[in-house]
Amino acid sequence: MQYREVQSTGDQVSILGYGGMRFPVVAGKIDEEKATEFLKKAIEAGVNYIDTAYFYHGGQSEIFLGKFLSSGYREQVKIATKMPPWSVQRASDLSKIFEDQRRKLKVDCIDYYLLHALNRETWTKFNSMNALTFLKTLKSERKIDHVGFSFHGDRTLFKEIIDAYPWDFCQIQYNLLDDLNQAGKAGLEYAASKGIAVFVMEPLRGGSLVKNLPEKVLEAYRAFDDTRSPAEWALRWIWNHPGVTMVLSGMTEQQHLQDNLLYAERSGIQIMSREELRIISDVKAVYHKLQKIPCTGCQYCMPCPFGVDIPRCFDLYNSVFLLNQKKMKGFYWLQLGGANGAPSYASLCKNCGKCLEHCPQSIQIPQRLIEVKTYMETPLMKPAIAGTQILLKVQKLFARPKKRL
Ligand code: SF4
Ligand code: SF4
Repeated sequence: MQYREVQSTGDQVSILGYGGMRFPVVAGKIDEEKATEFLKKAIEAGVNYIDTAYFYHGGQSEIFLGKFLSSGYREQVKIATKMPPWSVQRASDLSKIFEDQRRKLKVDCIDYYLLHALNRETWTKFNSMNALTFLKTLKSERKIDHVGFSFHGDRTLFKEIIDAYPWDFCQIQYNLLDDLNQAGKAGLEYAASKGIAVFVMEPLRGGSLVKNLPEKVLEAYRAFDDTRSPAEWALRWIWNHPGVTMVLSGMTEQQHLQDNLLYAERSGIQIMSREELRIISDVKAVYHKLQKIPCTGCQYCMPCPFGVDIPRCFDLYNSVFLLNQKKMKGFYWLQLGGANGAPSYASLCKNCGKCLEHCPQSIQIPQRLIEVKTYMETPLMKPAIAGTQILLKVQKLFARPKKRL
């Protein structure tokens, strides 16, 4: 196994980390026997970082890992977990949740601790609760070793967050299709330039970079080497970046683990040849050609005064054609329907034209949003959103007393 350094502390982490979000499950619960076997094999092969979160597997992931660590593995791995913005209603919840996590994980010190899923809304919420001071205190008390955050916002916000605290690490979504989305390559390089370790999540974009690939993408890969898998191409490209410290992968099958260990072994910083990088450019070009809307996710058009998440609308619409995945229609209303905040779907556009002058791609945004609306917003979407919102409000009402953890 290869290791890369977390600059702020000199900690050496394996370039492949184990993503606990996708432990194998059976009958809706973690298949503990299988997950234990996979973890042992990964650790034997040199993986020394396991990532989990408060709500993974309905809260069972931390409990399972606590049992696993106390069976003799605590010293061999770094453990990471996250503070969930959805479960904190007031500042005092931060310490209650944190202590619950230490109890579940059966550890005195959590090696890597993250604010989970930062975007404008969750960042504002954490700041209103002085979460950064809270993290600073935990670090001074040696209850956490490294402080970081996972990120799902735009590049401007990413830079703002990076500059707001002496982070040890950050966790971003980064892959062949997302080098211009969210934090993107620019964000990755900005964090790295400040000595902040960058951990990558969704390296295979939830599997969509290895399944149902456009024929032209497969042809480009095969023309170079017909034995190298799309997964290896995608991972190798990420590890090729000097700013990347570690790639997290959820490995639900024994074969995934074996393959990823092999790919990690064969990877390196800037080892991809010009020819390989050309193939990656060709592959990206195929994807971009299949895109219906040439949006790069640059976010210059944002914010929309009527709440439309323009790049996300375009991204999900494009994904239907890029990845041949109709299920993106479901993601569309789940992500933009307002279940986790204000709605931000295409039909909220009022054609005010404010966004138009900012788009470097000269996209006729209001017109293209009509196209997105027509294709993605099925007649049942809005009643489904309204129903979900009512359900969430009712749940929140009844859950309130329990939140005093
Ligand atoms: S034209 Fe539509 S998407 Fe653009 S800023 Fe106005 S309301 Fe928002
Ligand atoms: S400005 Fe244009 S390219 Fe950039 S995110 Fe908005 S629509 Fe996409």
